[in-house]
Amino acid sequence: MSSRATERLEADVAVVGAGPAGIAAAVTAARGGGQVLLLDEGIRPGGRVWQSGGEVHLPATARLWLERLEESGARLIRGAAVVDAEAGGRLLADVRGRALRVQAPRVILATGARERFVPFPGWTLPGVMGVGGAQALLASGLRLAGRRVVVAGSGPLLLPVAAAMLAAGADLRLVAEQAPGGRVLAFARAIWRSPSRISAAARYRLRFRRVPYRTGCWVTRADGDGVVQEVTLTNGWRTWRERCDVLAAGYGLVPAMEMARLLGCEVENGRVVVDDEQRTTVAGVWCAGEPTGVAGAVAAVAEGEIAGASAAGVAIPGRAHRVRRRELRLARAMEVAFALRPELRIVPDGETVVCRCEDVRLAELRPEWDARHAKLVTRAGMGACQGRVCGPALEILFGWEQPAVRPPILPVPIATLIEGGEGVAEVRGGGAGSPPPSG
Ligand SMILES: Cc1cc2nc3c(=O)[nH]c(=O)nc-3n(C[C@H](O)[C@H](O)[C@H](O)COP(=O)(O)OP(=O)(O)OC[C@H]3O[C@@H](n4cnc5c(N)ncnc54)[C@H](O)[C@@H]3O)c2cc1C
Repeated sequence: MSSRATERLEADVAVVGAGPAGIAAAVTAARGGGQVLLLDEGIRPGGRVWQSGGEVHLPATARLWLERLEESGARLIRGAAVVDAEAGGRLLADVRGRALRVQAPRVILATGARERFVPFPGWTLPGVMGVGGAQALLASGLRLAGRRVVVAGSGPLLLPVAAAMLAAGADLRLVAEQAPGGRVLAFARAIWRSPSRISAAARYRLRFRRVPYRTGCWVTRADGDGVVQEVTLTNGWRTWRERCDVLAAGYGLVPAMEMARLLGCEVENGRVVVDDEQRTTVAGVWCAGEPTGVAGAVAAVAEGEIAGASAAGVAIPGRAHRVRRRELRLARAMEVAFALRPELRIVPDGETVVCRCEDVRLAELRPEWDARHAKLVTRAGMGACQGRVCGPALEILFGWEQPAVRPPILPVPIATLIEGGEGVAEVRGGGAGSPPPSG
């Protein structure tokens, strides 16, 4: 039995994830006057795009929402990785090795998205990284003076990362977008009514204007002696090699839905199903931001406001629905434009590692299996990342749906599970604060 006491908190609304969606949700819910708890595993609020620190300069909107959060009365708990959730608003979080039990009748999930990897021979070599990973390293001050860099994969994220690579001193050789040129152009036409997006894309492109941006071209392998030295690319009829010291390759984003799936929320077409007020199919659970579909920070804020207002029973800010509709339209256009080409499925060979944590190679898997069977037979998806990287990759390679989610959804010290393992009923009976209102 652990000698350390589990901390227990009660709130009217608990928000998981302090990115743009979670911050907007917490701020808006706090207007209702109830206790709002915002939990995030990160050390600072802001999620992927609004995190200050390092060399990051935050946009005005981010600063505004972070100020609002400070003034809102919502309580932010940093470094709180929510690892388990049960119906009725019972959450278990690990806060730097300590268990925290939260009881809240209304829970808003705002857990964001993560980068999608598609395996190719050599993708696990040192020097090969995700586009988002490269972006995070650059934001924390990575310098690349004179190092040859190739940026590849898919989606708008390639542009800021390519520009940031150059700014960090890289010898940027090529930006390779797998989507065909016609689709990328169609997307540019779809966003022409969004001047901020057009100007941001143009600004990034100008910064690396001397470097080729090739559409309809993708990585087929990376090679090197202990570290990446060369990448092979193709456009379907011509194959060529580029010498490089760094290869940043990422294929868009996938919604982080583990918490929603753990709670039994319905998921369709790879996103959490929500109604007009961001309610999921489970009573007392709302979802906002990227888990409901990758649509960017503006949509995430609008959804957060809607979810926060709905959960707290306050008026939904007037423009939120209109903004959400507009942003979701653009998001669908982005989805169509940057849909992954089927050729990516035949890029890995039998020796290609598909599950990095458990070192499972493609040849060990059989197409007639499903993800659960593959897990049982080969341990694919059973490692530290719990299928976060290989799950979406296997979905692309084999069409396998992700297996059921089990707690803990994030790696956590065993002490936290032991400490936090007792029933939350105890929280209700003897915990701090007044009993939660029904909702
Ligand atoms: C790798 C990557 C790079 C990106 N780069 C850009 C960019 O350059 N420009 C741009 O406009 N957009 C970028 N985006 C997209 C942008 O992040 C989203 O559009 C926006 O942040 C969505 O906001 P959100 O609140 O839905 O999610 P996020 O900002 O991702 O916030 C989710 C938060 O939930 C927390 N969380 C998740 N699970 C748990 C848990 N179990 N317990 C506790 N906390 C949890 C995370 O720590 C995170 O802080 C990027 C996304 C990714 C994944």
